Amino acid sequence: MLSRSFARASRAIAQQKRFLSLHEYRSAALLEQYGVGVPRGIAATTAEGAYEAAKKLGTNELVIKAQALTGGRGKGHFDSGLQGGVKLISTPEEARDLASQMLGHKLITKQTGAAGKETTAVYIVERRDARTEAYLAILNDRASQTPIIVASSQGGMDIEGVAEENPDAIKTFKVDLKEGVTDKLATEVASVLGYTDEAIPEAAKTIQNLYKVFEERDCTQVEINPLSETPDHKVLAMDAKLGFDDNASFRQEEVFSWRDPTQEDPEEVEASKYGLNFIKLDGNIANIVNGAGLAMATMDIIKLYGGAPANFLDCGGTATPETIEKAFGLILSDKQVNGIFVNIFGGIVRCDYVAEGLIAAAKTFKLEIPVVVRLQGTNMAQAKELIDKSGLKLFAFEELDAAAEKIVELAPKA
Ligand code: GDP
Ligand code: MN
Repeated sequence: MLSRSFARASRAIAQQKRFLSLHEYRSAALLEQYGVGVPRGIAATTAEGAYEAAKKLGTNELVIKAQALTGGRGKGHFDSGLQGGVKLISTPEEARDLASQMLGHKLITKQTGAAGKETTAVYIVERRDARTEAYLAILNDRASQTPIIVASSQGGMDIEGVAEENPDAIKTFKVDLKEGVTDKLATEVASVLGYTDEAIPEAAKTIQNLYKVFEERDCTQVEINPLSETPDHKVLAMDAKLGFDDNASFRQEEVFSWRDPTQEDPEEVEASKYGLNFIKLDGNIANIVNGAGLAMATMDIIKLYGGAPANFLDCGGTATPETIEKAFGLILSDKQVNGIFVNIFGGIVRCDYVAEGLIAAAKTFKLEIPVVVRLQGTNMAQAKELIDKSGLKLFAFEELDAAAEKIVELAPKA
């Protein structure tokens, strides 16, 4: 039961691709504003800056941490050959040397896949001892429709392994939306972290402060791993992975000003400039759809007929010839794509207008791959006529099933 809710929680983390993530050093600064203990640290974007930062911290017990938006940095490696995205260091010279092997290089971890994530900054922090490395996360749980706190005494670098081999070591707590994290709940959560009795009150306070961040800053995720107890019984967030709801960007200006677009998929960033809601997937059949719900249904039906969608793309309520052309550009940059399925419901937009856009785009891009077009709604007969007469490799359908079947037949999986 508990393991199932953790599986759900970690799935929620994995799905939060669409939500803003912040670099650790930004997250640490935000946590500090809320009274959460964090090790002292300074971020740098150059090797020289890393040297200065280490000097300024004035201790020879330091850690250098690659700032790339991924988990599992400690066990990752760089395309520069360097092993480990989190390294213990003792001198400013070492900070400079390692920073030059991290900055501008791709960090490859279990979560990034082979492509890796570019390291845009390094975070130099004072090294603190940890007598216990606990795990703590706050997430929204769809099943219970409440925030949940996931906690374990076995945090550190292998929480996924713990979830698989020893799921009972991970505890889940529901948070009542109206009551929030009461003293009682906070103490209950604190007591599963494996801390000494001396540290429990500060741990409870920390959990309440973390929940305050979660609530006030419209977080989708607050994950602290490790949340450590130091030998002198202080509680420190030694890592922080914060996610924020994109729908709240209008009221979270400060948080969203910390966005680092270099960490996002360049095509998705480009798409958002044109009001296109685009998410890249692994398959070979690209699709262009108006409306998020219809886009989901379109991906489902491609799968139903044995195909694999290459993307999710919602071009919104107004599919103009310009947005259609932009959408083609985006999906054609994926070399795996060998077929396109356009599924437009002409309610506000006229189908013949969309067809004109499609024909123009097919010509602009000198399309070689098959395009199946399903247009329903206003002026669909005229649209079909335009497409049939275009002499291009466009196939017009009115029915969704037949259209999906056709594109799967024309665009076989590699
Ligand atoms: P992640 O691999 O991306 O989760 O990066 P973390 O920031 O969690 O660092 C990886 C591991 O390095 C942590 O789980 C800790 O064991 C260790 N670590 C990181 N910072 C410190 C620190 O300041 N002191 C100590 N003692 N260990 C640290
Ligand atoms: Mn961590």
